[in-house]
Amino acid sequence: PDPAALARAEGLIARTPDFPVPGVLFRDIAPVLADADALRTVTGALAAPFEGAFDLVAGVEARGFLLAGAVAIAAGTGALPIRKAGKTPRPTASVDYALEYGVATIEAAGDLTGRRVLLVDDVLATGGTLRAATQLIERLGGAVAGVAVVLELTELGGRAAVPAAHAVFTA
Ligand code: AMP
Repeated sequence: PDPAALARAEGLIARTPDFPVPGVLFRDIAPVLADADALRTVTGALAAPFEGAFDLVAGVEARGFLLAGAVAIAAGTGALPIRKAGKTPRPTASVDYALEYGVATIEAAGDLTGRRVLLVDDVLATGGTLRAATQLIERLGGAVAGVAVVLELTELGGRAAVPAAHAVFTA
């Protein structure tokens, strides 16, 4: 991808201190999604290392859905929504994972046997969500072809949970 276009897209990521709780610097990719050039640049950069290696794109609720849909259309594949607990009528797999406080559950339905899945999300923070999502894809019978995020927050050490993750931007 064009370095100038990438730098421009990175500059569109908004930062909000103390959201949703004090001490967190929230990174909002909504302005990237809302900009046609930035959206094309970032979705291209998410998928570029995995070109030809995936035939389905999974995104984690909710911002991951938008990225997964955009990457899937660009690559000519389908998309798979990975949902928070209680939203999938007949989940065929679910994974519980630890949050900073308490636990969360993600679910999905379907049979991914023989599918090569690219998993995408907006931000890699502690990595708990993406690690759980890779386990979910494997429990559905799929193979994780790659994990790609728009922004990796390196201080939070999420790479340890998802060692192979590809990050378009790091902070
Ligand atoms: P993780 O700690 O990696 O499991 O992140 C949990 C979810 O919260 C991910 O889907 C991220 O998109 C989101 N998230 C965590 N920290 C931030 C942050 N500082 N800014 C924006 N989103 C975040």
